[in-house]
Amino acid sequence: MSELTTIDEVNEFFDSAATFLKLDSGTRDLLKNPWRELKVSIPITMDSGELKVFSGYRVQHNAARGPYKGGVRYHPDADINEVESLASLMTWKTALVDIPFGGAKGGVQCDPLQLSTTELNRITRRYTQNISHILGVNRDIPAPDLGTNAQTMAWMMDAYGQTYGYTPGIVTGKPVQLGGSVGRESATGLGVFLLLEQIAQDLNIDIPTTKIVIQGSGNVGLWTALFAYQKGFKIIGISDVNGGIFSENGLNINELKNYLTEHKSIENFPNSEPISNSDLLELECDFLIPAAIDRVIDERNVSNIKSKYIIEAANHPITPEADKVLVDKNITIVPDILANAGGVIVSYFEWTQNLYQHKWTEERISNELQTIIIKAFNEVKALAHNENMSFRNAAFVIGIAKVVEASTLRGFLEK
Ligand code: NAD
Repeated sequence: MSELTTIDEVNEFFDSAATFLKLDSGTRDLLKNPWRELKVSIPITMDSGELKVFSGYRVQHNAARGPYKGGVRYHPDADINEVESLASLMTWKTALVDIPFGGAKGGVQCDPLQLSTTELNRITRRYTQNISHILGVNRDIPAPDLGTNAQTMAWMMDAYGQTYGYTPGIVTGKPVQLGGSVGRESATGLGVFLLLEQIAQDLNIDIPTTKIVIQGSGNVGLWTALFAYQKGFKIIGISDVNGGIFSENGLNINELKNYLTEHKSIENFPNSEPISNSDLLELECDFLIPAAIDRVIDERNVSNIKSKYIIEAANHPITPEADKVLVDKNITIVPDILANAGGVIVSYFEWTQNLYQHKWTEERISNELQTIIIKAFNEVKALAHNENMSFRNAAFVIGIAKVVEASTLRGFLEK
């Protein structure tokens, strides 16, 4: 397996675009390195009475275009390296879709499935207090990510407010009752679906016979599956951390949503067969949508991937080595910084609503999300076509160029 760390891999994608943009080494250094990294200890008394110390991180990568913005991940692999790579992806993502934010990411190294609600509440409060001096409505605004949700954001907002007063705009992805936006919970999945629908339309694909496989059935995976199913696409496989389910005739995702609410797992879902997460990725299908964790397609399994298109709903699901193989096989990959941008786009709408203390309708949220994400998609497609490059390279070129422009105007870079 590759010796590269996640940040090395993301920087490989960066360098390929930087070469196209003819950036010198000083500029590359400025843009690759995070502006600020904070590691905190999170001492918690567990329900058992035992004291445990967790590690938490906040990496502020780049704020040339606006306040730092990025999710907080609760996962056993959430170390400084992973958080740094995800913060960097946020910088290129917010620039690509042209919303006024920079890039950041946070993480707590823990397994949320092994923690009680009260333990998660305590971890979130202590983590928030320990990083609060670098947060701010005009400085750095966290959001949910893998292993966190609207409840986590409610706790973060409350913990921040204990010191700084009522500040709904300090986090996005909050419950609607606390100033969250309608449509934020489903936003990332809706963005993925809108891109799927656009590709199907561009290529005149027959929707009812189009087979889709989705890895992950959390926030992003399940919403993507629901929108696609309700449009008439055939979802033949989906998974969670414990494994997947498969049906050649397509799964009923409306029923799966209810089943998941009741059973908290997709195991033994009626009219489906079990399948492992690794076999799921290798199923014959039209669209493969990784929507769980990073680096699930690498040099070990890439030659077995049979999908015609890949939409990266998860962050960094494909290593650069695997990416090269897939691009050589003419598999179209919609890269993470475009595919999962729906979440941060609606976070931007939520932040705007909080600043104005005003509420938008769900229809306005969906329409404006669609306008922004499809515009970005068309720009990526046009550049990829004109310069004969991959969608990923084109997306990075567009995002990086905007950050270079802002950095130059601010005076970090000489003209
Ligand atoms: P989530 O915690 O709601 O769901 C994650 C899903 O992945 C669950 O079904 C879980 O069981 C599964 N999973 C976890 N570990 C796994 C493993 N080792 N193998 C296979 N499956 C595993 O998280 P989410 O918010 O849906 O995020 C999923 C991905 O989307 C992440 O890469 C995240 O960074 C990215 N993303 C999320 C958002 C958002 O708004 N939530 C926005 C942009 C990008």
